[in-house]
Amino acid sequence: MKEIILLKYGEIALKGLNKQSFESVLLKNVRHRLRLLGRFETRAAQSTIVVEPLEECDLDLVEERLSHVFGISAITRAAVAQKEMGDIARVALEYLADSLPLVSTFKVEAKRSDKTFPLKTPQICEEIGGLLLERFDNLSVDLHDPEYRVVVEVRDFGAYVHGVAHKAAGGMPVGSSGMGMLMLSGGIDSPVAGYMMAKRGVQLCCIHFESPPYTSERAKLKVLTLADKMTEYCNTFEVHVVPFTRIQEEIKRGCKEEYFTVIMRRVMMMVANRVAKARGCGAIITGESLAQVASQTMQAIGCTDAASELPVLRPLIGMDKLEIVDIARKIDTFETSILPYEDCCTVFTPRHPKTRPVLEQIVREEEKLDLEPLIEEAVSGTEKLVAILR
Ligand code: ATP
Ligand code: MG
Repeated sequence: MKEIILLKYGEIALKGLNKQSFESVLLKNVRHRLRLLGRFETRAAQSTIVVEPLEECDLDLVEERLSHVFGISAITRAAVAQKEMGDIARVALEYLADSLPLVSTFKVEAKRSDKTFPLKTPQICEEIGGLLLERFDNLSVDLHDPEYRVVVEVRDFGAYVHGVAHKAAGGMPVGSSGMGMLMLSGGIDSPVAGYMMAKRGVQLCCIHFESPPYTSERAKLKVLTLADKMTEYCNTFEVHVVPFTRIQEEIKRGCKEEYFTVIMRRVMMMVANRVAKARGCGAIITGESLAQVASQTMQAIGCTDAASELPVLRPLIGMDKLEIVDIARKIDTFETSILPYEDCCTVFTPRHPKTRPVLEQIVREEEKLDLEPLIEEAVSGTEKLVAILR
């Protein structure tokens, strides 16, 4: 008996005329996700992607991996039958032989997108339902709240008998909402911010600022490990590593200590904007959450925003740390994030950072620096790496 996987669309199913472009991004992502798991035929029709293995493979693993692809709301394993009642009945009996003895109530649902199929859906349900009742003594029918739903789908390219459906990742296909530059630190928050925007269809591009020798090689490797882990949900993406030491030293040397953090974050924004625009990104993404630290007050965020030409997306802005940690655990970045390596933001932190900076004062202070050549130097020294979904 041949088994396949059906992927049901989430929000894309509701799209109108441009549904096809979302669908093609999703199909591309599904194929990219599957490429190292075996040989498959994948095709899309009627808000479903059919994944058909062309060789022996571990379908449990395939199902698990596909449950992290955004744009899919549910995953169902199904057995393939010929489009003919005798074969549908045979496949249903065989495929459900292990599951149905474990439940007491069931219901058959039928979907018939092939309108040339001779039986209408109520007749399909009646026939298959009757047969299962006859075969399994433990079963009775419950149309309203059955323990098990047997689904028979008659589609253009075959008939399917479903097993249990599992909830999938939801969201929009990565890449369908354009590209965004995530400022990725080694902390807990920014990987979660990246995950949340990827869920809304953003293809990430990441930028990380390092300050050797104040930050170590291990700190950089930690960020690259985080990026690798994020690919599970966020797909393959670039990571740009910016040398930030010189800029930080210049800010420390030239500006008032209490302004250090705000100015540093503004310059990060300026560099991120340059790299983002060169890569075709339409927004900057950060892991900031209101009131979490001194640089995340409304006034400080306002000063950072003023340094960005691109819109700044902050998906965690209204979230508590514990909520963020829950997601970090779910996406398996938490354990890496809490490794105790230094971040460039913790280098030269002032004793009393300004929590309510005033933009005009900050800009005046910043003008003491000759920023343009420093930014140029940082951008041109940027190392480009790629985190590849495996
Ligand atoms: P995180 O857990 O993400 O490190 P945080 O609470 O430590 O966040 P900050 O250090 O103030 O907060 O950083 C706020 C945001 O600034 C981060 O979420 C991230 O988007 C960005 N950021 C901080 N440090 C870096 C860095 N070294 N490289 C790139 N982006 C950074
Ligand atoms: Mg941080």
